[in-house]
Amino acid sequence: MEQKRRTRIVDLLKTSEIGQQTNVKGWVRTKRGNKHVNFIALNDGSCIHNLQIVVDVPNFDEELLKRITTGASVSIIGEICESTGSGQKVEIQAKEIEILGDCDVDKYPLQPKKHSLEFLREIAHLRFRTNTFGAIARVRHSMIFAVHEFFTKKGFLNIHTPIITASDAEGAGEMFKVTTLDLDNTPKTEEGQIDYSKDFFGKATNLTVSGQLEGELAALAMGEIYTFGPTFRAENSNTTRHLSEFWMIEPEMAFYNLDDNMDLAEEFLKYLIKYALDNCSDDLKFLSQRLQEEEKNKKADERSMELIEKLEFVLAHDFIRLTYSEAIDILKNSKPNKKGKFKYPITGFGSDLQSEHERFLVEKHFKKPVILTDYPKDIKAFYMKLNDDGNTVRAMDVLFPQIGEIIGGSQREDSLEKLTGRMKEMDIPEEEMWWYLDTRRFGSVEHSGFGLGFERMMLFVTGMGNIRDVIPFPRAPKTAEF
Ligand code: ATP
Ligand code: MN
Repeated sequence: MEQKRRTRIVDLLKTSEIGQQTNVKGWVRTKRGNKHVNFIALNDGSCIHNLQIVVDVPNFDEELLKRITTGASVSIIGEICESTGSGQKVEIQAKEIEILGDCDVDKYPLQPKKHSLEFLREIAHLRFRTNTFGAIARVRHSMIFAVHEFFTKKGFLNIHTPIITASDAEGAGEMFKVTTLDLDNTPKTEEGQIDYSKDFFGKATNLTVSGQLEGELAALAMGEIYTFGPTFRAENSNTTRHLSEFWMIEPEMAFYNLDDNMDLAEEFLKYLIKYALDNCSDDLKFLSQRLQEEEKNKKADERSMELIEKLEFVLAHDFIRLTYSEAIDILKNSKPNKKGKFKYPITGFGSDLQSEHERFLVEKHFKKPVILTDYPKDIKAFYMKLNDDGNTVRAMDVLFPQIGEIIGGSQREDSLEKLTGRMKEMDIPEEEMWWYLDTRRFGSVEHSGFGLGFERMMLFVTGMGNIRDVIPFPRAPKTAEF
């Protein structure tokens, strides 16, 4: 019989073509039944749901049916039937079964039971096959799409900034070196230092920590641009919110001041959240149940808000906007500070905010996302616009519940004089940054931008607790297996 193309399970579950013949291909999650009838739960990655395949045992070769195990890949031709038992609209009555790939079940690490996230991290090559990581992969794709849709609708241009860079001035973090020199036998200068003029690019190069500086160059000609690329930080920070390789979205806009920047950041975050609610509801429902299951044993006041409720809550409320100084006052007089509960006590103006402080403001004090502005210049990068007080800069950090800092941004210093002044104070060599400074020499304008860590956003939207679980193959200290 002529067979039409394979149909994806996500489409089959929506179909009303009862009685039609179809072909599905996928991986067996479970098989159960008795000597008369078997039920196969089949998943093909197209949605969180499995498709039920009904197999009348007497119609099939016994040896073939034995090979249908958890993990095996199969192709099924059968009839679409209305389902009564499986909790779904349709199921397939199997007519022909082909084993595409057997699975050695004794060695297969994924059993039809709950595995810990820690264990699944050790088998990241197979974890796509679990409900949780399937859901995360689909949500991640939707969020990538939503990022491009948001900026495209607003007329922003996507710019690819380099991954290999010779500038290490951004100061956002420790960098990974990029070299083709023989590390066991590096060429030396007369002073005994490594001679990078002999290296591939004729100078020392690194993996980028941010596309911002190049993004600014584009914005100061194109108006509004954004980058969305991989960034690398070689800090040895083994936290649940840091990766060594992560993806960052960095819009940069000419003619935007700090208020415009904050408005854009808030609108952007809400757009992504709304997009997830509108387009990923089955996966979010699953992730919500997963989270509630995981938090079952926590005390009521330690449990997080139900996932979908939390996302809707953020959509429904304006973010609180206040200055760093106001935040310091709140923190200084807060109970945990007075009782010595913070690991890093707040002494006053100048203290760098740690995630414990950020989360206190968001989760305990305001109970809403917060945007902090006007940080002391000493704890921020050289390119942030100096305020008239000479002491603070036009920085903004967006703080989210459960995450802490999700966005960091600022209005940029547009005065050549002030910018070079800050660079001198911070020992940043002007010669290396001549191209960046040129934008302030030739038609400088007010402009602003920010960086959203894509995986921090993914943590928030999926409710997952560890950033290593929202990127398929995490890179972190001592972690680069797959
Ligand atoms: P943090 O203080 O949380 O370490 P940061 O201030 O060093 O972050 P920025 O340089 O401001 O980070 O980077 C912009 C955004 O990139 C941050 O707001 C965050 O969302 C994300 N980000 C920064 N570092 C990491 C990392 N190591 N892993 C994942 N995301 C990160
Ligand atoms: Mn930051």
